Amino acid sequence: MRKHLELLWELQKIDLDLKHIMDERDRYPKELKKLEEKQKLEQERFLKEKEKLDSLEKERRQKERHLLGEQEKIKRSEGRMSEVKTNKEYQALLNEIETFKEASSRIEEEILLIMEEIEELKKQLARREKEMATTLEKMEEEKRKIQEKMDQDEIAWKEKSYRKEILSKQVESNLFKLYNMLREKRQGVGMVSVRNETCQGCFVNVPPQMFIEVQKNNAIIRCPNCNRILYWDGNGEKK
Ligand SMILES: [Zn+2]
Repeated sequence: MRKHLELLWELQKIDLDLKHIMDERDRYPKELKKLEEKQKLEQERFLKEKEKLDSLEKERRQKERHLLGEQEKIKRSEGRMSEVKTNKEYQALLNEIETFKEASSRIEEEILLIMEEIEELKKQLARREKEMATTLEKMEEEKRKIQEKMDQDEIAWKEKSYRKEILSKQVESNLFKLYNMLREKRQGVGMVSVRNETCQGCFVNVPPQMFIEVQKNNAIIRCPNCNRILYWDGNGEKK
């Protein structure tokens, strides 16, 4: 019986590993998706700020054209100075020029303000671009790691499944059936170790006499509380 219990103990460990791999298989794609969404958000935010910069540049160009128009008007009015005949006409022309000049200095101020805003935004964008590059790099690295783990898990899955098949045939069939029945009922754990007189499946104490028997690994002994098959693994220390 000792041999069969040992084989079953190995099988239990493999079954837990396989269960873990299966859980990870569910988790990895979700993590990848989350990372990709984060990347997308980051890029969208950057593009939005860049769009704002573009629209400011456009506004600046418009105002510059407007300014040129006003300056053109001033020149034209000034050119008409020599043609003026009366004092009244002269005054009117001066007023006109004054109005155009006021308009152009107002536009000049507006252009200055926009240019300041553009400078500030450009600095922000440069900073953001740097940050984004770092973040993206980190995310790519994370994605690479997840992919690597997935690949390793696939290899481990194949190896362990193969070993499971062999063990399943070697373990005495009634013991194997009992194990599978318990495993199904007890969250994938049909066989547990006992340490310090405590079942490691339900953490309830086992009677001292039973503990002594379990340490022999000679018979099928089941936890009085959770019914799992008990196994002595030398307190988890490697032989
Ligand atoms: Zn128990």
